[in-house]
Amino acid sequence: MFPTSLSPSRSADYQQCPLLYRFKTIDQLPEDPSIAAVRGTLVHSVLENLFDAPAGKRTYQLAISLFTSALEALAETKPAEAELIYGETVEKTLAPVRPLLETYFAMEDPNRLEPHARELAMSVELDEGFEIRGFIDRVDRTPSGDIRIVDYKSGKAPSALYADKAMFQMRFYGLAWWRINGEIPRMLQLMYLGNGQFLRYEPTQNDLEVTEKKILALRAAITHSADQQSFPPTPSKLCGWCSFKPICPAFGGTPPPIPEQSLWTSGSSLVEESLKAALDSVTKELPQ
Ligand code: SF4
Repeated sequence: MFPTSLSPSRSADYQQCPLLYRFKTIDQLPEDPSIAAVRGTLVHSVLENLFDAPAGKRTYQLAISLFTSALEALAETKPAEAELIYGETVEKTLAPVRPLLETYFAMEDPNRLEPHARELAMSVELDEGFEIRGFIDRVDRTPSGDIRIVDYKSGKAPSALYADKAMFQMRFYGLAWWRINGEIPRMLQLMYLGNGQFLRYEPTQNDLEVTEKKILALRAAITHSADQQSFPPTPSKLCGWCSFKPICPAFGGTPPPIPEQSLWTSGSSLVEESLKAALDSVTKELPQ
């Protein structure tokens, strides 16, 4: 049966546009990295590594120097992506990053936090042969034992109309945490560094059960698409950010033939294997 796993991002792809999901998950077509995505990844690594320093030393200046180091490391491994970020001078390179990190420090004081886990890989079987997976940016445990799941966004908070869609990813994580650890997170928190807004939600058991049903329904919808080999394009204003617009039939393009079905319905597709390998390599023991 296909798919054998879902992450919040692949779920969002299918909900946005089944053809987008096909291109990414079945065809495994490469995407052009965007400046915002590369910068966002670097900022995430800064906020992860910031907590390696002892409390009291987690300063804005340290965050800037962590960004510089992360960019230098990227230049070694993926020079084309680093090239997107480099400005004519160091100050120009840092100019779009400074407001994000300044906003972060205005939103919370990392010296007053000791995260329970950072960049945590989670996977849990929801149904026979079907897992949900994802990476949680940060998990906090309060002195009273409550769990808060935190995700950083380098963009701006969505309008009220799209807030629920944004929170789906957090409910997804909340469900995974509950299924793995048997405790319902007290708080799901999105932090938008683009405009300094929090989006917070206190999930109930019913919320997480509804989320589970929604994910299983999504899986059934994708299975149906796969059985029919039907992944129709669904144009929206988000198409402006889609790397596959030139080959999208909604915009006059011609998609490549869909790969041989046996390659992607067996559960052993390259993307599944590579995701599993990535998860296996970074899965960390949960701190007690
Ligand atoms: S351009 Fe729009 S409709 Fe076409 S694949 Fe991308 S998201 Fe879907």
